[in-house]
Parts: sequence; structure tokens; C-alpha cells
Amino acid sequence: MSSGREPCPVCGAEAGREHHPGMAPRMLRCADCSLVWRPGVAAFPVADETYEEGYYEWWLELPEAVAAKRATFARLLALLERQVAPGSLLDVGSAVGLLLEVARERGWEPTGVEVSRHAVQLARERLADGATIYHGRLEDAPLDDASFDAITMTDVLEHLPDPMASLRRCRELLAPDGRLLITTPAVGCLSERLMGGGWFQYKDEHTRLFTARALRTALDRAGLAIEATGSVRKTLSLAFVSRHFDAYPRPVLSPALRGLTRALGPLARVTLPMASGEMWAVARSR
Ligand SMILES: [Zn+2]
Repeated sequence: MSSGREPCPVCGAEAGREHHPGMAPRMLRCADCSLVWRPGVAAFPVADETYEEGYYEWWLELPEAVAAKRATFARLLALLERQVAPGSLLDVGSAVGLLLEVARERGWEPTGVEVSRHAVQLARERLADGATIYHGRLEDAPLDDASFDAITMTDVLEHLPDPMASLRRCRELLAPDGRLLITTPAVGCLSERLMGGGWFQYKDEHTRLFTARALRTALDRAGLAIEATGSVRKTLSLAFVSRHFDAYPRPVLSPALRGLTRALGPLARVTLPMASGEMWAVARSR
């Protein structure tokens, strides 16, 4: 079918077809760049209330989760550091500040920008004076062009009604030899092909989902080119995964994971790097 009324938020094509027909809410797939997106959210601001109290607490309360997330960020920063030496870093969607914290320990001078007032408060408590964190949208933050050696957007792009506006702003903010690191769910990866419309990355706040080709197209249209890319491995425990599926319930899977976590006891808290259904990419200005 044709989307008709709403062009693709990445490439502007008018043609789209229903993605996994029967999915709720309904998603379209662009016939040109293969972006998967939810129609009807283009005019919304990034809704602040989605990310307020409760959005972060379900994992902040889990003892191994903070250490696990820090390990994931350290692995991602190491990928970035293959292309650019530590300098000034902007974390877009800095959440509760864990990436900022790990980046500072690795010699970066971090700055954050975050739409959730609640997350900004938690991050400021965590980092004390260790980083400047702006509350609001990237496009509104008072930042100087060409001032960052690196920009990170981990698990952010899929939340943005207008991902191109943010990518273009990143391009302006990057120093001439700077690099942008992105992680985002990868439509077309193994877990998505196996789980179809029930894939765990299909959730209410993920309104723009990228295939590898859609991400390449988006970066290209923003004046950026991918230098290195791969699949994300996140450090997780079974208890952490189970808590995720309590926060985002799925039939069968959520109760099964809960039962398994109980049965395994302390073993359920052992952390391992696991495929998360996401891709990473490091890009630079063209
Ligand atoms: Zn498109």
C-alpha cells in the first residue's frame, strides 16, 4: 500500500507499505530507503513524560545492571577510539549519565544533552561537576559548531520524530576530523527475522527503525559517511533481560524468563556480552 499522506522521515519518498501487517501500532516500510516508521508522530515533540520517573528505575534498581551498562559503554567507546583520540565528546540522549561517566574515566571531556528532566537530575547527581548536561532537544542546545571531537547517540535515533534534523545538527557540531558513533536497533538482523512483528525492539517509543541501508542513507543525506560498522553486543544478565521483559511485557516470553530467573538463582545474575538486535556505526563528515 502507499502511505500517500506522510513522506518517509529519512528520504522523503511517498511510497511505503505496511511492515509486518497486523502489527499494533501500525508501522510503514519505505520502498526506497527501507526505513520502518510509525506514521502520525512527525508533529509531536519528543514526549518528555515517556522518559520521566520509572523509565530508568527498573534497571537502576538491579545491582548488576549499572556495571553491565558501563561495560557496554566502555566497549562502544573503544570502537570509537579506534578512529579518534579522546577529546571533547557530546552524548546525545545522555540519560542518567553512565556513558558520560565512563567517557570521563577514559580521558574524554564529556557534555550531555537529554530531553528528560528526571534523567538530567539523576545524571547531575551522579557526575557532580564532572560534565555539563543540557536539558532539552539537541537542536535547541546552545552548542558551538565544529566543537566536538566525538558525538555519541546510543539507542537514541529510533526515538526521534525527525532523525534527519538531529543528524544534520551532529554534522555541524562535529570538528572537521570528528566522529559520530550511533547504535540503533537493526531491522533485518537475525532476531528481527525470527520474531517478525513480535520483535523486542518494536515498542511504543521506537517510532523510527533502521535497516543497515536506511542508516547509511540517513547518514549520507546528513553529509556523513560510515567508516566502520558492526553488531552491538550488550553486557546483560538473565535477570536484567527478564526485568526488561517485565517493563515491556510479552506473552509467553516474560513469564518464561521470570520462571527461569527464579530457578537459576544467583546464576541468573552472571553477566555476559549478548547480541541485542542492534547495529553500531562510526561515521565522519564527507
Ligand atoms: Zn525512505
